[in-house]
Amino acid sequence: MIVMSLDPKRTVAELKELRALTGDDNGSQRLAWTDRWLTAREWFTSKLQGHPVEHHYDAAANHWVTLRGESEKALLLGGHLDSVPNGGWLDGCLGVMASLEVLRRFAAEYNGRPPVTVRVVDWADEEGARFGRSLLGSSAFAGTHSLEADRGRIDKDGTRLEDAVARCGYHFDRFPEAGSERKNAAAYLELHIEQGPVLERMGLPLAAVLGTKGVERHAITFHGQEAHSGSTPMNQRRDALAAAAKLALEIRSIAGKHADSVCTIGSVKTFPGIVTAVVGRCEATLDQRDLDARILAAMYAEAQAASQKFAKEENCTVEWSKIWNIEPVPFHPTLLEFCEEAVRETAGVSHRMPSGPLHDAAEVARAGIPAVMMFTQSLKGISHNKIEDTKEEHLEMAVAALDRLATKAAQWILKQ
Ligand SMILES: [Zn+2]
Repeated sequence: MIVMSLDPKRTVAELKELRALTGDDNGSQRLAWTDRWLTAREWFTSKLQGHPVEHHYDAAANHWVTLRGESEKALLLGGHLDSVPNGGWLDGCLGVMASLEVLRRFAAEYNGRPPVTVRVVDWADEEGARFGRSLLGSSAFAGTHSLEADRGRIDKDGTRLEDAVARCGYHFDRFPEAGSERKNAAAYLELHIEQGPVLERMGLPLAAVLGTKGVERHAITFHGQEAHSGSTPMNQRRDALAAAAKLALEIRSIAGKHADSVCTIGSVKTFPGIVTAVVGRCEATLDQRDLDARILAAMYAEAQAASQKFAKEENCTVEWSKIWNIEPVPFHPTLLEFCEEAVRETAGVSHRMPSGPLHDAAEVARAGIPAVMMFTQSLKGISHNKIEDTKEEHLEMAVAALDRLATKAAQWILKQ
């Protein structure tokens, strides 16, 4: 009997097939809860034919493929087929298709019945691109999802999330039932493109991911005094923009004290915002991230203190209001070690790095399920864009490394 072994080239070919099916000249168009997304999911289902698997959609629209093993304990592998509008060809779907390839290898090697149960999940609406709520399906699975806050969200055409979900055959009220899929989940692995420039700059194809960074996201408003730009002497101004501008520069040194911290002022609005007036009010947004909760808290406190100082210097006042925050989610230490080993065995060299972007794996880890992620290099560090790309040899290495990691994780599950 010929045992089919892992075929990473097939994963690359399938990703190209998916791109041709659900993309256009502007990139991937698999926005969650749209027809193109459903097409992608149907296409994925067609790939299951001939494999000894069961599949179903849970109450929150996550798609589960199960290869039953000798043990009920389950090794989960996943990603997301949904994309942002005009997205790339790898974000999310690399994880799903590589996971399927690993499942196929388990099925072939163990004649349809591996020692542990292997499950592949395609999470619903990871991107949150349409309704502004990321990690929707995985947080329903994890039980961290509060329905009331999200049901009334609307997209740019005025469609409610609740209605978009219903159109695809799901009931928003029943999302928490997805939590039943946690049963027997013993470990979760997720392969994803890095979406940043670090690995390319280091010349590395793969890395083990330490965890996802915590985020502090705040609105900061400086209040000064609107005044005539011609008649108000420079030393008598209360220029709200000047205070904000000082803060925009200061956050670089606040972040710069730590190896992996990032701080971003992504939006600045001035009022009245005309050429002939000193800025009386300036609204800015601040996004701070780090994997270490203490560092994150320190950076938040430093930014607040700096804003007070600059407000005072410019004769202004400042107020803060929280937009959103999430704690750092470190991945499981044993799985992290396995991930590093798998990367080293495949690529000859390994690296550990935190993830700035959030991922479904963070929700799984928050549910108490041991989880880890693997990154593969992104060319030019670009993602959420049609030019998103990764060398094919790196994609193939990534599939091989995920497969090695899956073997190690499966053995570990059996020993518990
Ligand atoms: Zn993604």
